[in-house]
Amino acid sequence: MTATAGVAACDASELQRVHRALRTLSASNRALLRAEDEDALFHEFCRIAVEEGGYRLAWVTRAEHDEAKTVRPIACAGVNEGYLESIQVTWADTLLGQGPTGTAIRTGKPSVIQNIQTDPREAPWRAASVARGYGSLLSMPLRVEGVVIGAISIAAPEPDAFGADEFALLGETAEDLAFGIETLRMRARHRAAEETIHRMAWFDSLTGLPNRVQLDERLHAALDEAKGANRPLAVLYLQIGSFREITEALGYRESDLLLQEIARRLGSFDAGGTLARVGDDAFVIVLARGDSEAARGLAQRILASLAVPVELSGLLLDARASIGITLYPGHGDDPEALLRRAAVANFQARQTGQRHAFYAGGLDSECTRRLALMGELRRAIEGEELRLFCQPKVEISSGLVSGVEALVRWEHPRLGMIDPGGFIALAESAGLITPLTYWVLGAALRQSYAWHSAGLAVPLAVNLSPHDLRDPQLLDRVRGALATWGAQPDWIAFEITEGALMDDPGGARSRLAQLKDLGVELFIDDFGTGYSSLAYLQKLPIDSIKIDQSFVGSMASDEDSAVIVRSTIEMAHNLGLRVVAEGVETHAIADQLARLGCEAAQGYCISRPMPVAQYAEWTAGFSWAH
Ligand code: C2E
Ligand code: CA
Ligand code: CA
Repeated sequence: MTATAGVAACDASELQRVHRALRTLSASNRALLRAEDEDALFHEFCRIAVEEGGYRLAWVTRAEHDEAKTVRPIACAGVNEGYLESIQVTWADTLLGQGPTGTAIRTGKPSVIQNIQTDPREAPWRAASVARGYGSLLSMPLRVEGVVIGAISIAAPEPDAFGADEFALLGETAEDLAFGIETLRMRARHRAAEETIHRMAWFDSLTGLPNRVQLDERLHAALDEAKGANRPLAVLYLQIGSFREITEALGYRESDLLLQEIARRLGSFDAGGTLARVGDDAFVIVLARGDSEAARGLAQRILASLAVPVELSGLLLDARASIGITLYPGHGDDPEALLRRAAVANFQARQTGQRHAFYAGGLDSECTRRLALMGELRRAIEGEELRLFCQPKVEISSGLVSGVEALVRWEHPRLGMIDPGGFIALAESAGLITPLTYWVLGAALRQSYAWHSAGLAVPLAVNLSPHDLRDPQLLDRVRGALATWGAQPDWIAFEITEGALMDDPGGARSRLAQLKDLGVELFIDDFGTGYSSLAYLQKLPIDSIKIDQSFVGSMASDEDSAVIVRSTIEMAHNLGLRVVAEGVETHAIADQLARLGCEAAQGYCISRPMPVAQYAEWTAGFSWAH
């Protein structure tokens, strides 16, 4: 921004004019440093040119990109008197585009009219210009980031006003102004970027809710306030029930929409606190001044609102959730503990089938242990820590093995062999049951292949969990596994618990029908523990039921159990179904079952579950005389 034109060579009046350009330049440079926005900068430039530079009119125009290539004034100062409003100017190459402004914009070069009285290009506007005392005109293109966005125009009172030096100085002023605009725009972009970064750091992009970072901050503040005022505070940890299944079944777009709808519903509860999204399927609400009653009330209202299914793409999606609650000071007095324990309470709620639960202190370490186990289970499934065991089922009348059941074990590097009771429910609540089922399916078929190669033909039954029945890929996986090992459908079978069917009777029925179409044998597992009606069972494409071991084990000592077992066998036979009794621990019970016409038995008195590798040896030595 230096003005080094050859000033010495000028005559007195030219010197004066150069000075007026210099004053304009330096004053507008000062304005540049202070400017907050483009419009203000343009106005300030015009004011300076007139008041400090002594020009008669200064104005800034913007080049529109409409069809007429209109030139629109956006700032002006000086003797205007309706001049700019009355004249028509374009930057198109037409008669109205030959004036200095239109020319400067079109060519990108300064354009000057030294004598308004005589210059033919000024014809359309001459009368108006002369009436306002303009003698000469100069327009300079305003080039911002390489593009001419308009022009700066100056009218001087005398003709021949713009000598070479003044011309150069004003050109420099225009460049500085353009540089100022570029700076302003760059600053605006930086601000926008900063805002985005701030938003990303503090908000969840999908729902627009505060994220975990902001939650921590706010919870700290709310807790400080609660401590200062001796008031309670509640933290609600909410997790959506079937989020993972929905994502797996419908994809991310639908589950994103579901989350947005859930966030909207949650937002409609003005809880007087913070609502944040803290995980894929988890939200936290901080209820300032919330005691246990307020927290329970809010939880119930939220759960009721989420019990209404969300309609998406013509489907009714289950948005139901569970909520864990902690209270300050009862359950902790630092933000981290309150949050962690609320998550634990939510986990407890799910484990016990409740919709909401307050944190129950004693279980903290147990839950932390289980949560840790959950993380390890993920690795175990991928990392070859699962083992396949099997337990035979025997035909009571002949004593021949009619099938074996696949039972999974987890050989934990530290904890040793863990029974499925310790991790199946965990896998279900952690969304790990699908990969676990796929692992068992693969291992079962590999084992079947080995048995068939060794001349052992025995159907191996795989347990399916309720989640598996909703897995859209299940069928393809089963087909794929059969194809991989060149297996026949009678190599495997499936056991589905009664509970799994009742979760979603319609869906379960069609999924079972698809499995049955593959030609595999289907068992209803744990029969008697659920509420499936005879009428419903009749509609299912199943082959057998397995009477739950809780009835079988006690049938010798408990008359009620004996009645249930007897009537179940009768009912099943009426429906054309075979019956397997589980948990047969003694020969006495086996005899009793034989008298009732029960087809098969499974239990410790035949064999405990064993590693699949031992089965061949076991079956070779097995004979059952009861
Ligand atoms: P389940 O399907 O009802 O399996 C039978 C369970 O009863 C097995 O426990 C078995 O060891 C046990 N059992 C067998 N005979 C007797 C007996 O005579 N007396 C007594 N008291 N118990 C007996 P396990 O192997 O611990 O499995 C427990 C449950 O875990 C299974 O119950 C099943 O629901 C689930 N599970 C096991 N493996 C898998 C699997 O691969 N996938 C799925 N989804 N669930 C599995
Ligand atoms: Ca089973
Ligand atoms: Ca069972």
